[in-house]
Amino acid sequence: MSTLEIRDLQVSVKLPEGELKPILAGVDLIVKSGETHAIMGPNGSGKSTLAYSIAGHPKYEITGGSVTLDGVDVLEMSVDERARAGLFLAMQYPVEVPGVSVANFLRTAKTAIDGEAPKLRTWGGELRGAMERLHMDPAFAQRNVNEGFSGGEKKRHEIVQLELLKPKMAILDETDSGLDVDALRVVSEGVNRVRDTGDTGLLLITHYTRILRYIKPDFVHVFVAGRIVEQGGPELADKLEEEGYERYVAGAGSAR
Ligand code: ADP
Ligand code: MG
Ligand code: MG
Repeated sequence: MSTLEIRDLQVSVKLPEGELKPILAGVDLIVKSGETHAIMGPNGSGKSTLAYSIAGHPKYEITGGSVTLDGVDVLEMSVDERARAGLFLAMQYPVEVPGVSVANFLRTAKTAIDGEAPKLRTWGGELRGAMERLHMDPAFAQRNVNEGFSGGEKKRHEIVQLELLKPKMAILDETDSGLDVDALRVVSEGVNRVRDTGDTGLLLITHYTRILRYIKPDFVHVFVAGRIVEQGGPELADKLEEEGYERYVAGAGSAR
């Protein structure tokens, strides 16, 4: 059992002029392995800032609060250490990795995270199986990472990583964006397989309720102006679908 604990997290983005612009205004959240949490909120509310901060993106400065994984300070870790500790953050990986094939990339990532290379005898089959389950052409393994990938291919590759790396905690930011209905279903099935292992905690960040028709969250958090303003069960997502974020935005004021 693993626990990701976010306490009163306050984060500013570093602007090019060196100024700090406060975005996260005190976020509290606890995610345990086997649980699925959805963070839902309007554009610009700071959802990606939360994901990037946990990933250790250098553009964001932590100005207060803490993030721990099983009691260990995540914010003190390098990006690599975070991955080895069992945090999966799709956005930590480079946009394009010239000259590195999907197959090599996945094997290298798996080796780095496990501390030893996966067994050659079983690895090939695991990789093929994961790709097959996401309805990907086997030839995809020989393509260079993210080079000319369509939006849907990027998301499928993300879920293949998730299935093979078996993280303790996974943060998926806007995994549903830009997917057609068929791709959304295939990607959601992949997320549900990971969820059903009961070994991974999932934090799904999304603007739309669409993906939550396929992946049922245990908890829904409404995120507005840099903080969580309401929490509930899956029924809260249905309410948001009907009512939108308007009444939360009106009541929230500004984080800044
Ligand atoms: P969301 O993911 O909910 O749409 P973001 O975390 O992307 O929200 O952005 C939150 C706020 O922070 C927005 O007002 C956005 O303009 C601002 N912001 C984020 N990154 C930067 C940046 N690099 N420079 C300036 N403003 C930024
Ligand atoms: Mg946005
Ligand atoms: Mg975002």
